Amino acid sequence: SIVLAAAGITKTFGNHTALDGVDIAFHRGEVHALLGENGAGKSTLIKILTGAYIPDGGVISVDGENVNFTTPQQAQALGIGTVYQEVNLLPNMTVIDNLFIGRQPTNRFGLVDKRRMERESREILTTYGLDIDVKAELSTFSVAVQQIIAIARAVELSGKVLILDEPTASLDRSEVEKLFGIVRQLRDRGLAIVFITHFLDQVFELSDRVTVLRNGRLVGTQAIASLDRTS
Ligand code: ADP
Ligand code: ADP
Repeated sequence: SIVLAAAGITKTFGNHTALDGVDIAFHRGEVHALLGENGAGKSTLIKILTGAYIPDGGVISVDGENVNFTTPQQAQALGIGTVYQEVNLLPNMTVIDNLFIGRQPTNRFGLVDKRRMERESREILTTYGLDIDVKAELSTFSVAVQQIIAIARAVELSGKVLILDEPTASLDRSEVEKLFGIVRQLRDRGLAIVFITHFLDQVFELSDRVTVLRNGRLVGTQAIASLDRTS
């Protein structure tokens, strides 16, 4: 079933049309790849779907209801989480603090409940296969581990749609395998995953559906199972 949809999305910068009437729908329990050359409009579309840009025209709906968000916080509150290529976390804070920015639980005295944060951080990361020191600074971990932490945070905060913007750009092959395992697990939990990439082999490896953008226009959307991989 469709969780997030956009219809007739247009966006112009000056006299340049970055998106020209784009229609796209993301389904629960699917990985949907967005493929396109540099300048095709992928980032602009993602920014519109996450409240970072306001479109000039078009309609966005979440769970079938039209929505009108104008900030990333509003998009997040509707269930749409994003992990950008550059990990968008705070490198000099602990893993715990990164996971709980903006949603710190308090105890019965109204104080920040650090024990609970530590325990829940461990529990959350265990489900992502990470057994790490959650009190350590984020910057002490590899980019791949930081990225998984960023995904965990986005899912905990948002939980319906997870947008991954070129997540494999700086990972080696074994890190890519690990990431894909996590993405499949989240898909099987029912999330809609949006996977932006320019690696065609990764589209086939991970995705259930692919949309191609070119010059701000939608070339088409196809279910991967319906494509002939040899042609
Ligand atoms: P992609 O992510 O597919 O590489 P973008 O969405 O970044 O494509 O860019 C689509 C087009 O819109 C490009 O021509 C780009 O230069 C332009 N564009 C994107 N963001 C802005 C901006 N903030 N101001 C002006 N032009 C922009
Ligand atoms: P990516 O395609 O990975 O987003 P870009 O280099 O296209 O990388 O864009 C980097 C940032 O600059 C994005 O936020 C994009 O929207 C913005 N941008 C892209 N093109 C322009 C432009 N012509 N003028 C202003 N900002 C732009």
